[in-house]
Amino acid sequence: MEIKKGISVSPGVVISTAVVLDAEDLVIPKRLVEPDQVAAEIQRLQDAIAVAVVDLTRLRDDVAGQHGKEIGAIFDVHLAVLRDKSLLAQIVREMKNQRTTAEYGVSVVMRRYADKFKQMSDRYMQDREKDVHDIAKRLLRVLIGQKREDLAHLTRPVVVIAHDLLPSQTAALDREHVVGFATDVGGRTSHTAIVARAMGIPAVVGLGNITAEVSGGDTVIIDGTRGLVILDPDADQIAEYRAAGEKFIQNEEELKPLAQLPALTKDGHQVSLQANIEFPYNIDEALLQGAEGIGLYRTEFLFLATEHEPSEEEHYQAYADALSRLGGRPLVIRTLDLGADKYTQAKALNPERNPFLGDRSIRMCLHDIPMFKRQLRAIMRASVLGDVRIMFPMICTLMELRQAKMVLNDVLEELEDEGLAFRKDIPIGMMVEVPSVAIMPDQFAKEVNFFSIGTNDLIQYTLAVDRTNEKVAGLFCPAHPAVLKLIRDVIRAGGRNNISVSVCGEMAGDPLYTLLLLGLGLNIFSMNGPDVPEVKKIIRSTTVEHARQIARRVMSFDSERQVMHFLREETRKITPEAF
Ligand code: PEP
Ligand code: MG
Repeated sequence: MEIKKGISVSPGVVISTAVVLDAEDLVIPKRLVEPDQVAAEIQRLQDAIAVAVVDLTRLRDDVAGQHGKEIGAIFDVHLAVLRDKSLLAQIVREMKNQRTTAEYGVSVVMRRYADKFKQMSDRYMQDREKDVHDIAKRLLRVLIGQKREDLAHLTRPVVVIAHDLLPSQTAALDREHVVGFATDVGGRTSHTAIVARAMGIPAVVGLGNITAEVSGGDTVIIDGTRGLVILDPDADQIAEYRAAGEKFIQNEEELKPLAQLPALTKDGHQVSLQANIEFPYNIDEALLQGAEGIGLYRTEFLFLATEHEPSEEEHYQAYADALSRLGGRPLVIRTLDLGADKYTQAKALNPERNPFLGDRSIRMCLHDIPMFKRQLRAIMRASVLGDVRIMFPMICTLMELRQAKMVLNDVLEELEDEGLAFRKDIPIGMMVEVPSVAIMPDQFAKEVNFFSIGTNDLIQYTLAVDRTNEKVAGLFCPAHPAVLKLIRDVIRAGGRNNISVSVCGEMAGDPLYTLLLLGLGLNIFSMNGPDVPEVKKIIRSTTVEHARQIARRVMSFDSERQVMHFLREETRKITPEAF
């Protein structure tokens, strides 16, 4: 039994069997074989080693020919490992004792072998760990070959253990069978984490090297609430976590009746709780959880879910679908926010050195006007089907906002010329997620109908903390007084300029900040559907006056620790079971 601590990104507890994806998404299945098949498996192993040796020898000779013998000699180390008789004997022993497939034997023994190198004090020997992983992968590719177990065709409940998952991979996970996941890297507001939360799948990220410590078929516990993963749990722990899982579900059940009640404070102040979605089908569940509309539709997932850029018609179909599910409730369609972690740099023609500071979001759209127009046309055509609002992401300068609005105007003229119907007074809003806007919000407020504060990016850019990097996750903190000051100023600017302000970053769904945001004057919270009941409970248990007092106290603090401690205490007084 071993307990690993990571970053909790999606609450809940699951106990299940692991499926491990390696860096190339190869699934290493654990398959026991019948006693009479062990010999055939050992033969498969020997054949695979022979193929790998031939491949590597060819590679070594090619590299030596092009770059010289010294460079080619790097592969001699790999060849020596593959020919190491004692290593082969260990794998064979494992296969015989456990009666497993060749791939499983390779995966388990090579990992143990790599760990030995890692623990050595000599730096050179430590670095050999990577070589061993490399060799293991080569062998596994030969062994698994075309027999890749596709995550889309699972037949039993599993937890996925991966180095990283792309947001699009997470969104495509088979929800019926994937009951949790854990990754080596990632942060709380990485889009992978956000998608997991929206899907209600318990998940832990930033675990360091969990992929090297778990084998496919192992039993693991994912405690998404506390950010723990328990490997090889004993019977007591399984019983304890089963009870915790049941309690979590029971708590969710208890909150269910709140869905149909208004988000009204005790002194009669009405707040609107809306949901963030990635796909139109997320809407049904969000409404069941009590959302009153969609405050953020991340339309870039249309791109991420396919290999090609969606056509105008595909955009239109998605928006029409969303609106029909909403039955007249508002839908804030955010224009494409591609780039950064919502794009595979690995596949990019020219990978960016700093994608979060690069060609992302509105910048990308303004660099590709035909693509931008296709989306805007679809949004405008759908605008007659329900309560649609348009929102531009990542605005940094007034010029960008004006350019985006000019492109929209061009689209409106084109639609007019074509005789197509659209809503002429469609509300136009923008995300406030870059400090340059939050520092001078009045100028922007005069040119839009609404603001939505994207705290995920606002925190990242204000505190210079990559939201997806587990190494600095401890520094990513909504409670930093500088962040709070920006949020307060933006809400105030909205009031002065008579435009509505919402918060749609993860902070809006975190019960720790509900009282504070309410007290700062926030009236629209947009969050992942599963977060709605808890936030609503807090709102219904307090008064605006009390929340304002709390906000005043918080704004007098100069450290995030003080802020968090105070908010935790105050929230506990209202809902003792909140944390
Ligand atoms: C944000 O930045 O807070 C936000 C809501 O947008 P995204 O998470 O999609 O970047
Ligand atoms: Mg953002």
